[in-house]
Amino acid sequence: MASDDFRGLIAWAGGWDGFEIVQWTPEEELAPDPFGLPAQRLIIELTPARDTGRRCSKCGTPVTVVHDVSMRRVRDLPLMGRDVWLFVPHARLDCPPCGRVPEQIGWLDRYQRVTKRLAEALAHLAQVFGVSAVATLFHVDWDTVKLAHRRALAAHLGPQEASDFSAVRQIAVDEFALHKGHTYATVVVDVETKRVLWVARGRGADALGSFFTTLGAAGCARIEAIVSDLAGPFLKAMRTYCPRAKLVYDLFHALQRYTVQVVDPVRIAEANRIARPNRHAGRTEIEHRRRHLTGRGVRWLLLRARENLRSPAERVRLDELLAANHALFITYVLKEDLRTLWQCRSVAAARHAWHEWYARACDSGIALLVRFAHRLALSAEYIINHAVYPLHTSLLEGINNTIKVMKRMAYGYRDDDYFFLRIRAAFPGLA
Ligand SMILES: [Zn+2]
Repeated sequence: MASDDFRGLIAWAGGWDGFEIVQWTPEEELAPDPFGLPAQRLIIELTPARDTGRRCSKCGTPVTVVHDVSMRRVRDLPLMGRDVWLFVPHARLDCPPCGRVPEQIGWLDRYQRVTKRLAEALAHLAQVFGVSAVATLFHVDWDTVKLAHRRALAAHLGPQEASDFSAVRQIAVDEFALHKGHTYATVVVDVETKRVLWVARGRGADALGSFFTTLGAAGCARIEAIVSDLAGPFLKAMRTYCPRAKLVYDLFHALQRYTVQVVDPVRIAEANRIARPNRHAGRTEIEHRRRHLTGRGVRWLLLRARENLRSPAERVRLDELLAANHALFITYVLKEDLRTLWQCRSVAAARHAWHEWYARACDSGIALLVRFAHRLALSAEYIINHAVYPLHTSLLEGINNTIKVMKRMAYGYRDDDYFFLRIRAAFPGLA
């Protein structure tokens, strides 16, 4: 094919409105492709088309007075497997009504290093494959892909303040750590649609207050139930803004708290007790029994519901563990029974089950368990409320886990706004 024909083909495929090709040069790239093979690029130099005038980027009117022209290097979609680099002269104009303004280029946004359509492609692919994979594939900076994705998400989702909250009746509230636990963020979810309604920096009253303020008095009055961990500051904001909403204690958080405050310390105490010098057991046996309690996977065994254990071997291991340790056995049984409080479907049954559980915990003779039961008694009303509002208890656990995975994948995010947009995009809600 003659050079002119090829130029015509590139110009047609490129469709750089208002510009024409001065020349094009194939070139080998410095960085190899993902297979380590030499990657090819195409350098395309553009110049303003003779028949089209320049236009002001503010008001759109044609302007003839050019103040100066600078050369921009921008990336475009690959052409026939080659990365495309464009050299684009970009003028600053003196527009009579607007003053000094950059000229309008329909396919290229201001300050961007990639064309609109490349940004769009990067954003779409990043949504599916993640930022790193797309950056590698297109030989583009990680930040360029991230920026394209962030802008696309922001445009797609819109500001959360402007969302329609009119159908929201039941919400779930949770918090998660940002930046190695120094700062926190709060997330609000619509229980019925699983849509993330709100993500904001901070925890407790401040973060939640901003949501309730946006919701407005009428919106707050429509909230019937709130499920959460019901930690102190949350509780205060919920009572202030939604005094009539039923508060529901989330099972996932209750079990987490039970594990940290009761199961873990009881297990460690048992292990230490065994490790003490003992006439009846030799060193190896003590070490063996101690490792039995502190080894990998023990915490997991104790945390899972028995029916969720993956294999018969795990069930046998759990049984052995519990048979050998009385205190651990009690805490385990009461943990499983605690779970059943969230299965009651009437207030009377829930209240009865709670009183039973409380009495057994108090009679257990295990100080940590007794203390836990006393503290939990302050929230008993919120456990019983679950019988009326059986908000799905795996909702917050699922969101919590997704956020954790996203955070691990995105160790490079130092961009909270981007992270929050990704969380909102991951839970768009059911139609
Ligand atoms: Zn103008």
